[in-house]
Amino acid sequence: MLNTCCIRQNADDKLYGNLGQLKSVQERRPGLQIAVGGCLAQKDRELLLERAPHVDAVFGTHNVGRVAALLALARSGGEPVLEVPDAPGRDEETDFPTAMAVRHDQPYAAWVTVQVGCNNSCAFCIVPAVRGPEVSRPFGELVEELGGLAARGTVEVTLLGQNVNSYGRDLTTKWRGAPAEGAELAWIAGRRWAREGSLRARPLFADLLRELGAVPGIRRIRFTSPHPKDLRPETIAAMAETPAVCEQLHLPLQSGSDRVLQAMRRGYTAERYLSLLADARAAIADLAVTTDIIVGFPGETEEDFERTLEVASLAAYDSAYTFVFSPRAGTRAAQMTELYVPPEVVADRFERLKVVIERSALARNLSRIGMIEQAIVEGPSKKDPKVLSGRTRQGKLVHFAPRKGDDLVPGTFVSVRVERAAPHHLAGALVSAEQGPGRRVGERIPVVAG
Ligand code: SF4
Repeated sequence: MLNTCCIRQNADDKLYGNLGQLKSVQERRPGLQIAVGGCLAQKDRELLLERAPHVDAVFGTHNVGRVAALLALARSGGEPVLEVPDAPGRDEETDFPTAMAVRHDQPYAAWVTVQVGCNNSCAFCIVPAVRGPEVSRPFGELVEELGGLAARGTVEVTLLGQNVNSYGRDLTTKWRGAPAEGAELAWIAGRRWAREGSLRARPLFADLLRELGAVPGIRRIRFTSPHPKDLRPETIAAMAETPAVCEQLHLPLQSGSDRVLQAMRRGYTAERYLSLLADARAAIADLAVTTDIIVGFPGETEEDFERTLEVASLAAYDSAYTFVFSPRAGTRAAQMTELYVPPEVVADRFERLKVVIERSALARNLSRIGMIEQAIVEGPSKKDPKVLSGRTRQGKLVHFAPRKGDDLVPGTFVSVRVERAAPHHLAGALVSAEQGPGRRVGERIPVVAG
């Protein structure tokens, strides 16, 4: 089963390459079925089956839960099945099967979708076209899901949404159209609003963070991605005051030039972005910040790009995902062909941005030398199996050697004294490891100067 993404062109190209390879696997193994889902499948639909007729089932972003049934249908009917909702929307029954809470490849961590779709219209982005408007899952469903995950040993969850900061807006609209009381209201909007009265009910992402942060057994909560224009003070306060929420904020900048931000239709200026970041850093002790930046948006001048370098430098990121602008058919930016930046200029800017990002990433990591970090063991390091790798609350990778006789299985909480740092990882010495299943809930990060 291939889950696809159409945000960038090379993911598009890769899909058809992978499907070509799978064709020969299928020829060697009769009966092997191939299903393709996600937003690229949603976008290409019939085209996908034309280009890869050996695929058995194609499904969209809102009907993941139907995949087993579609494969059975393809098997019994002897021909490919395509089921992609035309225009997934708020009024439609959005399918949020329990499969949406995907157990990570690590048994102690899970990804939990809290919202699908997006109501924004960023000029470079194809998501609103393929994933439809925002639909949030009700509070009660998410609280129950996290409770179930915790009972099965999950201690860390990452909440997923296209724009998690606007989580709940559609629930408010839905709720106001059909008011409910008591338990029903708590299910939709959370216990806080059920207490405060139905007419004012306005569930926010901040409420969700607080409520999920109180689920026993869930010790770490992360989320991605918030949109800077929707980052509310309530969210910053909830992050600061909810011990389970990790000190990590991914805040996509995209560009440091107000002119480009306006052309991108992002809804904030560089100054506003930096002031939000300052608020978050002032409120949340020991906050790590990461971002996304696009290089070479149509019309980006050298001056615009220098503003991006300047803002990236001021923001002092812990790390960043940097992308070269990739035109996606159907988006506003893809039509700005006369403003496309020459590839050699984009490549040069990309390298210059990398230098600024790596510099701040290294400085931020070096500043942690001497601290004791709480980490969760992920397993042996990819480069040296004698060394273990773990993830700190800030989301940083930390390598350390286990002591003789230690049985530090993935999911074990350890304390590591940081001794070395590079832009993309920390390394140090094991100080202690938590034994057995006795876990303290809501533990705060034990970072101390060494
Ligand atoms: S907020 Fe994110 S998902 Fe929505 S349109 Fe903008 S970039 Fe795309």
